[in-house]
Amino acid sequence: MRKKIIAANWKMNMTVAETVSYLENFRSHVDEVNGVEIVIAPPFTAIAKLSEILGGSQKIRLGAQNMYFEMSGAFTGEISPAMLRELFVRYVILGHSERRQVFGETDALINKKVLVALPSGLRPILCVGETLEERDAGREKDVLETQLRGSLAGVTPAQMNDVVIAYEPVWAIGTGRNATPEQAQDAHAHVRAVLAELTDASTAAKVRIQYGGSVKPANAATLLSQPDIDGALVGGASLEPLAFSEIVKAAVEK
Ligand code: PEP
Repeated sequence: MRKKIIAANWKMNMTVAETVSYLENFRSHVDEVNGVEIVIAPPFTAIAKLSEILGGSQKIRLGAQNMYFEMSGAFTGEISPAMLRELFVRYVILGHSERRQVFGETDALINKKVLVALPSGLRPILCVGETLEERDAGREKDVLETQLRGSLAGVTPAQMNDVVIAYEPVWAIGTGRNATPEQAQDAHAHVRAVLAELTDASTAAKVRIQYGGSVKPANAATLLSQPDIDGALVGGASLEPLAFSEIVKAAVEK
């Protein structure tokens, strides 16, 4: 009932020229793939070109890695929801742990972005996840609840249908150390339970929850076969078209 969603977060990688050759290669691997939603979030500089290449593709959706919560104005260096929509961007990653840790983003700021993204026609991929220190202290569930409550304040049940949650344990991002399928499933079930408290059980049952953190072709299928894992947010492995296509295929088979 929940269509799997596999998203590539290219982070600060890929020039426009690299994006063009990546797409040509990637598309040849996923030509026959159906029944899974693919999202690619390139850096801002490659969005216009990728939008032109995709031409409104239903199979591969365009994503952005961040945005600001104002529509225009004196916000040097920022990109607005309107600018993203003009290029037919459909998804926006919000609250990635690198935004939280390197750029000091708080749940309150992320909440402002979520509340502006939704009426602008952008679907947030809201990232939540605990640090290693928090997990070792047994606090991961509290951390997830705080992040979800803070980032989703004021989101209506109807709007929740357009939100994707990415559970990304910080200790698993770019480290090569992924959560075990059991750890991930446990966290996803908890995220869904919190969403049910924030909205209602039937709304929560429809929300797609991605796992992110060192997802690779070798571990994708087992992670994606867990009952509450509805997709993956992929960093490192998404930079290689063949590896990313294999992760997409692992989702189709589920
Ligand atoms: C990410 O950046 O969202 C991520 C999960 O990265 P990686 O796949 O490289 O761990």
